[in-house]
Amino acid sequence: MRTETRYQRQLAFSGIGPAGQERLARARATVIGVGALGTAIANSLARAGFGFIRLVDPDRVEESNLQRQMLFDEDDAAAGVLKAEAAAARLQRVNSGVSIEPIAARADASNIDALVGDVDVTLDGTDNFEARYLVNDACARLGRPWVYGGVLADSGVSMNIVPGGPCLRCLIPEPPPAGSFATPETAGVLNQITAIIGSIEAVEAMKIVLGSPDVRRSLLSISLWDAQFNAIDVQRNPECPTCGRLEHPFILFPT
Ligand SMILES: [Zn+2]
Repeated sequence: MRTETRYQRQLAFSGIGPAGQERLARARATVIGVGALGTAIANSLARAGFGFIRLVDPDRVEESNLQRQMLFDEDDAAAGVLKAEAAAARLQRVNSGVSIEPIAARADASNIDALVGDVDVTLDGTDNFEARYLVNDACARLGRPWVYGGVLADSGVSMNIVPGGPCLRCLIPEPPPAGSFATPETAGVLNQITAIIGSIEAVEAMKIVLGSPDVRRSLLSISLWDAQFNAIDVQRNPECPTCGRLEHPFILFPT
């Protein structure tokens, strides 16, 4: 398949162009979590022509996933297939020109360096702070960028976490105690907000890979039901245990 034809609409976009598309073909990304956010992210990256995409998720497809996890269907749920493998197979049919590596395992302290250390950017498709703090520690220690994203009900947030800038623990210093906050099971989650936040994560990853000066610096916060979009400045905390004091407790002392 010819690049000029397949990616014509991206080649014509001034922010990408032929040189940008060629860079994307060499781009490497890891997506941690292949649920609602992760399938939106992976779908976007594969169609955009990211050269290598690693998909990390230990779970299997269930019926309740189909409302928002856009790469899966009823056959996948009935068979209980692994999300990482089903998403990889689907996207490989969408774009045979990209390399997709499914890893049906949970990201933890033992494997996180290998998962995020050999890629240009890591994207957050997780649904819990434990995994995000782990990614945050590993990326800070290895000097790698990652894109944070989270969704609940009709709302979502996203922030680019790049070396030298504020990290997730500058924003949220300690993980909220388990049980102290609403979850998708109790508060729900709309597939429109997961699609939007996933798309935002993917386009910011694209800008990071391309070295664009337009990589967003603020925390983006969206409430979809009342159509509120806000950009919030986040300052780096010099006492931050991850990017300030370099303690990385979620790798060194995993829970
Ligand atoms: Zn920090």
